[in-house]
Amino acid sequence: MSCRLLTLCQYETNKLVRINSVRLGSLKWTLNVVILMFICIMMLWNKQYQELDPVVSSVTAKLKGVALTQVPGLGDVVWDVVDYSGPAQEKNSFFVVTNVIITKNQKQGKCAEVPREDKVCQTDKDCSKGAWDQHSHGVQTGACVKFDVRRKTCEVSAWCPVETRSNPPRPALLAAAAENFTVLIKNNIRFPAFNYVRRNILPQMNDAYLRGCHRGDDALCPIFRLGDIVHQAREDFAVLAVEGGVIGIQINWDCNLDRLMERCLPKYSFRRLDEKESNRTLYPGLNFRFARYHSENGVEMRTLYKAFGIRFDVMVFGKAGKFSFIQLVVYIGSTLSYYALTTIFIDWLIGTSCYKMEARQNYSERKLYPCPGSLFQCILSVSFVDEDQLRLVRKSRKKSLQNVKPLSVLPRKENNGSHLRAMLELPKQGSTPKLTPVNGHGSKPLPQRGPGEPVWCLCGGCSSTPLHQEELCCRRSRGPCITSSPLFHPLVLSRPLLEALLRYRDPLGDPAGSTDALRHCAYEQYIAWRLGVPPADSHPVVPRCCVDKIRAEFPSLDGDYKGFRPR
Ligand code: ZN
Ligand code: ZN
Repeated sequence: MSCRLLTLCQYETNKLVRINSVRLGSLKWTLNVVILMFICIMMLWNKQYQELDPVVSSVTAKLKGVALTQVPGLGDVVWDVVDYSGPAQEKNSFFVVTNVIITKNQKQGKCAEVPREDKVCQTDKDCSKGAWDQHSHGVQTGACVKFDVRRKTCEVSAWCPVETRSNPPRPALLAAAAENFTVLIKNNIRFPAFNYVRRNILPQMNDAYLRGCHRGDDALCPIFRLGDIVHQAREDFAVLAVEGGVIGIQINWDCNLDRLMERCLPKYSFRRLDEKESNRTLYPGLNFRFARYHSENGVEMRTLYKAFGIRFDVMVFGKAGKFSFIQLVVYIGSTLSYYALTTIFIDWLIGTSCYKMEARQNYSERKLYPCPGSLFQCILSVSFVDEDQLRLVRKSRKKSLQNVKPLSVLPRKENNGSHLRAMLELPKQGSTPKLTPVNGHGSKPLPQRGPGEPVWCLCGGCSSTPLHQEELCCRRSRGPCITSSPLFHPLVLSRPLLEALLRYRDPLGDPAGSTDALRHCAYEQYIAWRLGVPPADSHPVVPRCCVDKIRAEFPSLDGDYKGFRPR
């Protein structure tokens, strides 16, 4: 089997870190229980386990009521359903006439137009034949005739006499009677997905019930008094009746079709749909005209009605829900990601100052396996002889490395192996180290800065360098240089020791021949001594004073130094 195929027979999974901690363990379980409770409550509250289906419906309405009114010029007029429900009914709505302007016995002819500001004339010259506009009742004949004793208007060819009244009568002619009209609303609904059929006249409602039921004490009664509807829409019937308007009757079916909790009843609510106040001056209310025709002595006559009224729009909406295993699985699946919040929160908590620096470092080292990448050269690890801990700093091209603020401060990790070996090696080499200060060890901190000494140097041993990222001293505060320590020479510069170390790595090589190898080994010795094991994703930096000493001891033949690269 080829190698490429073998990779198909592999499975990768995540590696986890287990932290034994009572605090973190109980926190994890508490959070998980809280999340579980939240998920369950949301599921029951919103019925997330149900499949939903929107309602399909049809509506019919049946108006009842008779009104007797005094119409000026006509006397007593009786209005029954045919009269007041208007000529045509729209789908899912019904209309009730509440106010009316009647112009009786119109016939085709010529008569004076209704006077308005711009329609008053003095002579025939003010009128033009054939003219009309939006407000005209007919087409002008070109003559100027008397409208009444005082005014003259242009004569029009129209249904005469023309309708003279423009404002509806107040109070509305039918308001008092129409308030007591009743309407029976029949609403059949269907939920196609569940093949469920129902109507708002429930099976238990019989003829006697419907005749006697009253909405005041029975919210399910399908017979409504118009006055009650308008009142529940928070409107005044007498005011609304004058100019008319539109009232919405909303029927909401919110059905639960689960066997144990089956419930499917309509809920009625009412509100006004047209503009009430904001458009007061611009064509308020609802009105339209219709005419009834008859002939008198062979002449066609008509009675014109301008009807004001209330249109009731019945709107049905709703949904039904029923348990669905698929919905339940989908819901549970969508909530699983909430458990990740526990991990995010606890990981964040570990990163905060609630935990000791060592514990944080320990957790993060166990959790993360850093791999040197392009960032490797950006994070530098630095150690000072007068500070116990390691600093991680970001490489800067603008600031001297000595002054860059640390990203983090870590405890130093000792590397015992190689040093133990080195220390054991020393006596055997016979070069007993002189454990005495090389220059000024133990003396007081240097009081004055030397003349050629760079500003960032605090030990007095560093030379200046053109690169900011190499400007690093061995100290944070003024004091003696690390190179003056009695251990510096035997540990870092001792040629026999470095040769032994190189031979330890390459038993048959000739370490003495390469000063470059010795120099790099000296750098490694310094790092192992002062930085221990630096974090794997950082680049250790050797202070300038030590670099100077090491380069002086093991100079490059061509004077070219590449800088230290850790193995
Ligand atoms: Zn220095
Ligand atoms: Zn120094």
